[in-house]
Amino acid sequence: MTRSSLPRSGTFSEPAKKHLGQHFLHDRGIISDIVHAVDPQPGDRLVEIGPGQGAITFPLLDRHGELTVIEFDRDLIFPLTEAARAHGTLEVIHRDVLTVDFSALAHNGGPIRLVGNLPYNLSSPILFHALDHAPAIRDMHFMLQKEVVDRMAAGPGSKVYGRLSVMLQAYCHVTPLFTVPPAAFRPPPKVDSAVVRMVPRDPASIGVVDPAVFAHVVRDAFGQRRKTLRNALSQLCDSPQIEAAGIRPDARAEQIEVADFVTLANQLAARSA
Ligand code: SAM
Repeated sequence: MTRSSLPRSGTFSEPAKKHLGQHFLHDRGIISDIVHAVDPQPGDRLVEIGPGQGAITFPLLDRHGELTVIEFDRDLIFPLTEAARAHGTLEVIHRDVLTVDFSALAHNGGPIRLVGNLPYNLSSPILFHALDHAPAIRDMHFMLQKEVVDRMAAGPGSKVYGRLSVMLQAYCHVTPLFTVPPAAFRPPPKVDSAVVRMVPRDPASIGVVDPAVFAHVVRDAFGQRRKTLRNALSQLCDSPQIEAAGIRPDARAEQIEVADFVTLANQLAARSA
């Protein structure tokens, strides 16, 4: 990893970069609510995604003394590192977060706790990247578009219940914490935001036997949203197999509980093993 090979350029006065999803938090009340929600404890291994100009970074450092951050914008690396000296020990990883192996970070001191006001254009890829490393992660506190948090936490029957809800809830407890208005950021985003807590489930209790089969079932089920499961899953299984999982073949994906998707996927995985 490229750790702190710093270009000596850039200041915090540079304009926000839209293509990097830069909306910098400036509302002290919200920042304090985030630090309070994370509630760092001695020995915790905190990792922040996208520290930007340090809005959350410095209060976390003041509270915890040490922190690892992952930032892609080279212009922010030097000013961030300089400003951090007054607050504590900052390890800077200058990389695209999607290329960072969270499991390798965890090897240096137990499961990591992820924090981040995420670039909204990358929120789904970052969430799925984190899921891939779930055993290395103790918990996550993320600021996301409120609409995404609503989808993550939705249950069957909700209009926004979908692939994201099922995939995340199968592996994590998802708890929306609070909503954040556009005025809390500079520049303000066009939409409301929300902070969400995600805690990976105990691997022994997850129940998903084959993650690839599970992902395939969920993708196909919601890929054809208006179709019955019998039709949407026709490439994967037939009606008797759907019924064997306790699911009506004429139901639609948005009516099915997460646990039932897991049962169906496990039966298909057992059949192909
Ligand atoms: N944490 C700061 C705050 O709350 O003010 C900045 C949040 S801003 C919404 C998102 C941050 O993620 C920016 O600093 C941006 O440069 C960074 N970022 C964007 N894409 C990234 C990527 N692929 N990997 C790591 N950081 C990224």
